[in-house]
Amino acid sequence: MNTETPAALVWFRRDLRAFDHAALSRALQTYTRVYCAFVFDADILEALEDRADRRVEFIWLSVKELDSALRQMGGGLIVRHGRACEELPRLARDLGVHAVFTNRDYEPQAIRRDASVAETLALSDIEFHLFKDQVIFERDEILSGSNRPYSVYTAYKNAWLKRLTDADLQMHPIAELAGNLALPPENTIPNLNALGFIGSDLARLDIKAGMSGAREAWGQFATRLVDYEETRNFPALDNTSRLGVHLRFGTLSIRTLARHVYYAAGKGTQVWLSELIWREFFQMILFHYPRVTQNAFRTEFDAIVWDDREDHFQAWCAGRTGYPIVDAAMRQLNQTGFMHNRLRMIAASFLVKDLHIHWLKGERYFARKLLDYDLASNNGNWQWAASTGCDAQPYFRIFNPITQSQRFDPEGVFIKRFIPELAGLETNVIHAPWQLLPIEQQACGVLLGRDYPMPIVDHEAARAKALALFKAVRADAA
Ligand SMILES: Cc1cc2nc3c(=O)[nH]c(=O)nc-3n(C[C@H](O)[C@H](O)[C@H](O)COP(=O)(O)OP(=O)(O)OC[C@H]3O[C@@H](n4cnc5c(N)ncnc54)[C@H](O)[C@@H]3O)c2cc1C
Repeated sequence: MNTETPAALVWFRRDLRAFDHAALSRALQTYTRVYCAFVFDADILEALEDRADRRVEFIWLSVKELDSALRQMGGGLIVRHGRACEELPRLARDLGVHAVFTNRDYEPQAIRRDASVAETLALSDIEFHLFKDQVIFERDEILSGSNRPYSVYTAYKNAWLKRLTDADLQMHPIAELAGNLALPPENTIPNLNALGFIGSDLARLDIKAGMSGAREAWGQFATRLVDYEETRNFPALDNTSRLGVHLRFGTLSIRTLARHVYYAAGKGTQVWLSELIWREFFQMILFHYPRVTQNAFRTEFDAIVWDDREDHFQAWCAGRTGYPIVDAAMRQLNQTGFMHNRLRMIAASFLVKDLHIHWLKGERYFARKLLDYDLASNNGNWQWAASTGCDAQPYFRIFNPITQSQRFDPEGVFIKRFIPELAGLETNVIHAPWQLLPIEQQACGVLLGRDYPMPIVDHEAARAKALALFKAVRADAA
């Protein structure tokens, strides 16, 4: 193609922004002609079950906005649809670039894909450069005194904070280098139908994609950050940032967030920074222990013989277990693609320790439904809740869904939002409605077993069985 000056190609993936972008910045510093591309990867899209998947629409909208932003700076986005491992090298060859620049992804499948792309590019003498972008510290940057990856979060967090310097929080410049952006030879973005999808309910849910959506969500949350510590555990208050999806797709930069909270004072701020560090902890764990995608981190727990009752699993998925807090949580997930963190812990614990279903089944269900689904965080947290992970909840600590409900949704406000059939119940019975006599149920306008299910298991009995299941394999392992 055009061979006047050496050119490079920047491959966008989970970093859909035109500012503070490590790979783009480095390419613009090194080359005077820099193309930008995004590939709707058929290997990923074809595996999705839901043709109205919210994540696909979120990405599609974000890609469109990224293209506009790049065009305003004199460039633009080349957008392809196909297997990324084939499309990307083909595009690089067609453009005649010397090098491809991209930001690192730590998921096992992505690592394999990138290795294959690097190999194919090398056949055409095209360099492949990877950069750290989606985390502050990656891979081996935070290791214990014995040069091993940490498996205890607090120790990791302390080392993370100790290592942090201003330099780690610096932005990667883009705007001042934008003169090196090249106009793309083609500039069409396939519509959702061409990708095999249809529009989702993002607009109805008022979820805004792209850099502008991230900016708005962050702007709103920044003013509430000071209350984070006190409010974060109460789903009815809905006071967490909702930035998970933006962090997942890189429509904002982790450095912007970390910079803000690191230099700000206040407990809420520091607690929120700890959450961002949890995210990095699980990315690091996934990188070092890719086996966790299929196995327990603590391998002895792979031997647990789960009940795996399909009817119980279906009841959990549908929000029909008879435990209001669990059901409200699952209905929030099904209806909105989001579930509050406290509820994720309760729902996950219930699946594993009350229904005795393999944590991987729950993890896969969340993976299908969560808008902010992220393999490292989802897997790490599921293994935490199931007590199979590193630094996990001890197996004998079993959430009681009734007391959790009383503590974190005391008035039942959240429950009633997602289970309208329980709207007539008083606060004292909303957490365990089966305690009502039939005549009392009638007075509240709900008949258990007809309008809302009776509990599918008895928590105390289920708890005892969970303890026995865990103890059995611990004894075997000893
Ligand atoms: C069973 C289970 C599954 C989960 N699956 C996911 C997932 O697929 N993707 C995901 O991003 N988070 C997951 N989490 C972690 C957490 O629930 C979500 O990050 C959080 O609820 C997202 O809401 P928010 O953006 O308002 O978070 P905030 O409370 O505002 O936190 C800010 C950000 O910090 C990060 N963060 C917060 N808590 C955690 C945590 N425990 N572990 C890792 N990162 C964290 C997220 O990036 C989050 O967006 C899961 C938790 C559990 C218990």
